[in-house]
Amino acid sequence: MREVRLGDVIDDFCVKCKRVMNHSVVSMVGPDPAKVRCRTCYNDHDYRHEQAPPPKVDLRKATLFNEVLAKLQPDGAIPAPEAVAAEAAEPEAAAAPAKPKAKGGRKKGQ
Ligand SMILES: [Zn+2]
Repeated sequence: MREVRLGDVIDDFCVKCKRVMNHSVVSMVGPDPAKVRCRTCYNDHDYRHEQAPPPKVDLRKATLFNEVLAKLQPDGAIPAPEAVAAEAAEPEAAAAPAKPKAKGGRKKGQ
C-alpha cells in the first residue's frame, strides 16, 4: 500500500452517503489516516478502512423480532385459552350488527 499523507484523497466508507466515497485525509496517526472527510458531503469521521459499520438497527430489529416470535409462539401455534374464552364471552355483541336505526319497538327477546 502506498504511503498516505495529510490531504490525500483516499477511498473510505461514508456513513452519510452510505457507500464508499472519496475522502480527504484530515488527520494522521503514524503512517495511517486517523480521520477523513467525505468529499461529497464533507462529513468528518474516523478512517474506517473502507469497512461499513455494523448494522446496529438491523441487529436491534432482529432482536425485537425474535422477542415477539417467542411471545407469539411459547410452545407452538396453539392459541392461548384466555383468548378463546374472551371471544366466546360476548357472542351477541360480536354477532349483532351495529345499526343506527334502533327505533321500531323491536325488543330483544330472551
Ligand atoms: Zn459522504
